[in-house]
Amino acid sequence: MLRTHTCGELRLSDKGKQVILCGWVSKIRDKGSLLWIDLRDRYGITQLLFDEKNKEALENARSYGREFVIQAEGEIIERVSKNDKIATGEVEIRVLRVTLLNAAKVPPFQIEDETDGGEELRMKYRYLDLRRNPVRANLELRHKMAQEVRKYLDLQNFIEVETPVLIKSTPEGARDFVVPSRMNPGEFYALPQSPQTFKQLLMVSGFDRYFQILKCFRDEDLRADRQPEFTQIDCEMSFVTQEDILNTFEGLIKHLFKFVKNIELPELPRMTYADAMKFYGCDKPDTRFDMKFVELNELAKGKGFNVFDSAPLVLAICAKGAGEYTRKQIDELTEWVKRPQIGAKGLVYVKCDQDGSYKSSVDKFYKQEDLAKWAAKTGAEKGDLILILSGEVNACRKQMNELRLEMGNRLNLRNKDHYSCLWVVDFPMVEYGEEEKRWFAMHHPFTAPKPEDEHLLDSDPGAIRANAYDMVINGVEVGGGSIRIFNKTLQAKIFTLLGFSDEEAKKQFGFLMEAFEYGAPPHGGLAFGFDRLCSLFGGAEIIRDFIAFPKNTSGRDVMIDSPSTINPVQLNELKISVNQ
Ligand code: ASP
Repeated sequence: MLRTHTCGELRLSDKGKQVILCGWVSKIRDKGSLLWIDLRDRYGITQLLFDEKNKEALENARSYGREFVIQAEGEIIERVSKNDKIATGEVEIRVLRVTLLNAAKVPPFQIEDETDGGEELRMKYRYLDLRRNPVRANLELRHKMAQEVRKYLDLQNFIEVETPVLIKSTPEGARDFVVPSRMNPGEFYALPQSPQTFKQLLMVSGFDRYFQILKCFRDEDLRADRQPEFTQIDCEMSFVTQEDILNTFEGLIKHLFKFVKNIELPELPRMTYADAMKFYGCDKPDTRFDMKFVELNELAKGKGFNVFDSAPLVLAICAKGAGEYTRKQIDELTEWVKRPQIGAKGLVYVKCDQDGSYKSSVDKFYKQEDLAKWAAKTGAEKGDLILILSGEVNACRKQMNELRLEMGNRLNLRNKDHYSCLWVVDFPMVEYGEEEKRWFAMHHPFTAPKPEDEHLLDSDPGAIRANAYDMVINGVEVGGGSIRIFNKTLQAKIFTLLGFSDEEAKKQFGFLMEAFEYGAPPHGGLAFGFDRLCSLFGGAEIIRDFIAFPKNTSGRDVMIDSPSTINPVQLNELKISVNQ
């Protein structure tokens, strides 16, 4: 080894030892007869001291710049002025000899915890950005998470099996990335959006419990929290009910919280999809705070206020302690809900004053005793603010979801260090696409209907609930899955419902249908979004920060400059012509 120790491990108890350290020059302070260098590696920072007694070393050190790679040999001594901010802060190395291992250009941004480099620049020089502590810490967290996932699942008898990357389209509802086949001109592989069909085939093969931490690819329009390639913890189990799967993976998430964050999670509550929509207006409620929706139809209609009278739904939330909101704050909130992104027509409020009276924007139509009833129903007390939206059921719930989250932000109820996890269960099996005029699988076409709802298949498919579930943490869907169909006839029926002709279904999924004829066990599973899980554990919102080499928001890797054109010879071999 070129070193005896790392830059993070020396302590006062090592005083007097001769050591050799290697690393990057992080900082230089030159006081003439004395010079200090902060030497950095992955493990930490150790201070090097150069003095006149070792003139050659001092001269050498003076010629170094930031990010030079050096090797320093010397004795550990106690520091005069100690630094309690770093673990090695009580010691320094009095350097006898120093060797330059490699010089470095001046980095394009400061390699510090707080850097002056903008996003694009740091992406272009990602390998330098990765030298910074916070970025490195994110990847260390990711590593730890992956280790714990493997530990837990291995103990539960799951076996990690790799599935291919060059496959055929998988139906997860996004566009496929495709790869042309040189040996089969005109034909393409698709990159997996998930290994869904393979893991089901592994169940047919009798593997019983499978998992894999793998890359999946979806060609979607990107948002801040999406990457075209992302990592899933993908799992499947045989001979299980939904209950078994929920328990097994509740165990996984508890294990992760315990061993990565030292947090004991309580039992995960379960909420039906229908309740999630009714009380939170979305299928991934942020349950770190309450503020549930309360329907006011019965109390608010029939008093001459046309807006409410003509609305199918009148919905309220109670913002605790926001009764002191000023006129200006409420006006601002009203403008906020009227923005096109939210789309509400207006906002009605009731302030619950300390003297027990109510002040509302609809005082003309409602008496104090009417408003008192609203307050009782929403649980509003003195000092609270009731906010009310009305309109078509789905639109109104959607708008109220946004308003609730916004109020959660404004009232500081969404603390990133506080975790609230739950299962959302009983998702509808299909939803109707108004534009396309056909049914779509809400999860994917292999999801089994609840046996008690199967009879609705011909009469009312929209009412069928599936054995499908999502795990939600702090308003983020971190994972989801379902019990699968394992019967060829039912699977064929669902394909038909989803608009596949027999021929198409056979072409795309014939192999799976055939496999079902060779003894398929009942099975089910789920997949977690690993990047997202890591970012949540790291208390951050952007998953990019937890990926070593991420793509930017246009799907580009600006460091290696990809995607890029390929040369005509390659295109020719692939029999692809590009019309520029
Ligand atoms: N393949 C599904 C997904 O990627 C997860 C599952 O059903 O297991 O969302």
